Amino acid sequence: MAVSIPTDSLYSALNSVKKLRTFMGDLFKVLSSGGVGCEKADKFLDSKFVEDVQDYINKINQAFRDLEQSTNNLSAPAGPFSLGNSALLSQESVPNKQALYKQLVKSFKWNDKVHEYSAMSLPLLSFNLLKRSHANSSPKRRRIQPNCHNVPPQVVDSAIAFVDRLFPNMTMSVTRPYTSNAVLQITLGRVFQGLISFKGLMIEWVMIKGLGEQLDLWTESRYKVFQKVTENTHAAMLHFYSPTIPDYAIRSFMTWLHSYQSLFSDPCKSCHNHLHNNMPPTWRDYRSLEPYHEECKH
Ligand SMILES: [Zn+2]
Repeated sequence: MAVSIPTDSLYSALNSVKKLRTFMGDLFKVLSSGGVGCEKADKFLDSKFVEDVQDYINKINQAFRDLEQSTNNLSAPAGPFSLGNSALLSQESVPNKQALYKQLVKSFKWNDKVHEYSAMSLPLLSFNLLKRSHANSSPKRRRIQPNCHNVPPQVVDSAIAFVDRLFPNMTMSVTRPYTSNAVLQITLGRVFQGLISFKGLMIEWVMIKGLGEQLDLWTESRYKVFQKVTENTHAAMLHFYSPTIPDYAIRSFMTWLHSYQSLFSDPCKSCHNHLHNNMPPTWRDYRSLEPYHEECKH
């Protein structure tokens, strides 16, 4: 819980304390000098000395009144700050653990900043044209937009069956392990296997692996080449995404993915080599479907 302190009155209170201390110091300095340099024998009757002392006492009174006034404006914090067990860190006596308290304070500050920045970035991101869901669109616009991630399973099945007929050397099987959303398992010739997770008709996630590897949606292949292909499928799934004609998006994506049948046989279109940095051409052009090495694509 944040305790708000009026910084202005706190500042003026601290200022009055400083003044009070200065005037007190000055007073004692005058008193200790004992009026050295005064002409009269009875120093305490010397008018200059008495004037100085009175002057400082008046100043001290004034500063004291100021201090009282500014402290009246301050309210006491409601109860002690609850730091929990972390308060004990400041009493740590083991030298190599003493820095922990500072680090804790630092991370609190960092956390505050994250909150602040995320609050600022939210309105900026809400203007982002790359967003894939239309939850924030106006109701009028939403009626026009087909809801491609909320369609009956039969529609998804028939869209996949259509693609299945297009590519005889790519075997496909649909499962629905958790929800009504489809997970498509594919095997592309003797090149690779993969899982494509759908949300309605929208491709949501892709994982490509070698033929002998265990398939699941979240573990990367242990082979660098399939890690790279997986990465590229993620870029492609965003590239081909279309909320208005989702079945066409699936067809385009699968056509693009199917072009990987020559992953280990076709040379790079740019450098005409099979291997570059010990990797085959793992990139496929979105339009021409031509193979390129990661380093050779434009
Ligand atoms: Zn190349």
